[in-house]
Amino acid sequence: MQDIGHFIDGALVAGASGRTADVFNPATGEVQAKVALASKDEVDAAIAKAAAAQPAWGATNPQKRARVMMKFVALLNRDMDKLAEALSREHGKTFVDAKGDVQRGLEVIEFCIGAPHLLKGEFTDSAGPGIDMYSLRQPLGVVAGITPFNFPAMIPMWKMGPALACGNAFILKPSERDPSVPLMLAELLKEAGLPDGLLQVVNGDKEAVDAILDNETIQAIGFVGSTPIAHYIYSRGCANGKRVQCFGGAKNHMIIMPDADMDQAADALVGAGYGAAGERCMAISVAVPVGDETADRLIEKLVPRVEALKVGPYTAGDDVDFGPVVTAAAKQNIHRLVETGVQQGAKLVVDGRDFSLQGYEDGFFVGAHLFDHVTPDMDIYKTEIFGPVLSTVRAKTYEEAIGLAMDHEYGNGTAIFTRDGDTARDFANRINIGMVGVNVPIPVPLAYHTFGGWKKSGFGDLNQHGPDSFKFYTRTKTVTARWPSGIKEGGEFSIPVME
Ligand code: NAD
Repeated sequence: MQDIGHFIDGALVAGASGRTADVFNPATGEVQAKVALASKDEVDAAIAKAAAAQPAWGATNPQKRARVMMKFVALLNRDMDKLAEALSREHGKTFVDAKGDVQRGLEVIEFCIGAPHLLKGEFTDSAGPGIDMYSLRQPLGVVAGITPFNFPAMIPMWKMGPALACGNAFILKPSERDPSVPLMLAELLKEAGLPDGLLQVVNGDKEAVDAILDNETIQAIGFVGSTPIAHYIYSRGCANGKRVQCFGGAKNHMIIMPDADMDQAADALVGAGYGAAGERCMAISVAVPVGDETADRLIEKLVPRVEALKVGPYTAGDDVDFGPVVTAAAKQNIHRLVETGVQQGAKLVVDGRDFSLQGYEDGFFVGAHLFDHVTPDMDIYKTEIFGPVLSTVRAKTYEEAIGLAMDHEYGNGTAIFTRDGDTARDFANRINIGMVGVNVPIPVPLAYHTFGGWKKSGFGDLNQHGPDSFKFYTRTKTVTARWPSGIKEGGEFSIPVME
């Protein structure tokens, strides 16, 4: 049994609270490690040490900070397989998907190498007689990230990269379900030259999160996870005067127009609905074919594809399309929701309820499910299932289809499949959702654009990664400067205006 602690001041340390959580191997159901759950005192001590280390780092020129990021990228590439293996072992996703998880984080680190350029301020020469005006982007001090289980490499890197490149110290509270990869990332950053104390990885649960929310030194918090927790963290963090951005859950709709290439749409739906066992905030969980004929054609194409999906452990390599879900509780919750779908009258056209994998009976595997004739009043439509379950809602018209996506409480991602440019353009313009795909089922923006949902999928201002992340982790200071040669008159008693 492995004991997993924290990463404090450049070293792995054991937990001191006496509280731990089980870390499972989702493929076998076995407990493979115990992760320490930090106490408030441990979190406060980690933050105090980070605060001591930050001023020197903030004063280091941005090019030198960028060079640490450059080295980090090289080390991530060197250790890619090792990281992906550790990630699959605790999360359950396939090895190739785990590499994608690391890669999409790495790409944000690559973006952060541009810190010297991204942190350049603004300058106005001669804003008044002999007056220059300039704005600086300065680090906030000590900032924190609280991250979910489903991307244990990517999302911590989305947070730590920009925060550190901007000159902050960063406290990471990763998911207690898969804590190993974040600790490995911290070790790699140390090897890349990051001075000790600037990245503290504190494992824990609500107690550690609350300690971060209430600690006066913490200036900003970036959160990613489920909507109820996102809302809680946003409310408490803001009430404590912090800058907070929280990204929550999702229910992503894909609209399939009658003129769409139906094979392409079905392939896209299978990948986006069932990849990573549906445990992606950008997974498509609702298919909305427009017109009964489109729906019939789509279901006909989907059924054999869904039935052919291969479910198994990451150790089976390329023979697997998706792995187990993260915990036994997640599996039970998915099965519970599937039952509500059946009871409430949806048609279960692919039934994965009896799925079992020989040799892995205790693993948290869930078979692929496909529902047809789902309606907006059903629990499977309203709730984020976060499992391999795709719901089909039949819409009569395009207006009804776009209305469904617009009326849903979540607004993370969406997609439309069509050959018609006018329809696609109208959809992209009108939809009240943060990330939109046109014939692209999972429109996750690349590192140099920004990522964020609307409605109950995102609380606060500014998105993740891209230029927004450099704004989120810095604050603006504006200097108005006049040298004695420009001072011509005596005291002024009214507000200066430019006439
Ligand atoms: P979660 O909300 O259970 O946990 C996220 C983090 O919050 C973890 O670090 C956890 O330890 C902490 N936490 C959990 N309960 C808490 C409590 N009561 N008080 C304080 N902190 C608490 O989410 P999860 O199950 O790890 O991740 C899945 C969810 O994340 C899904 O809803 C998914 O859609 C969402 N997600 C969203 C995005 C996005 O960018 N919008 C990306 C990935 C995942």
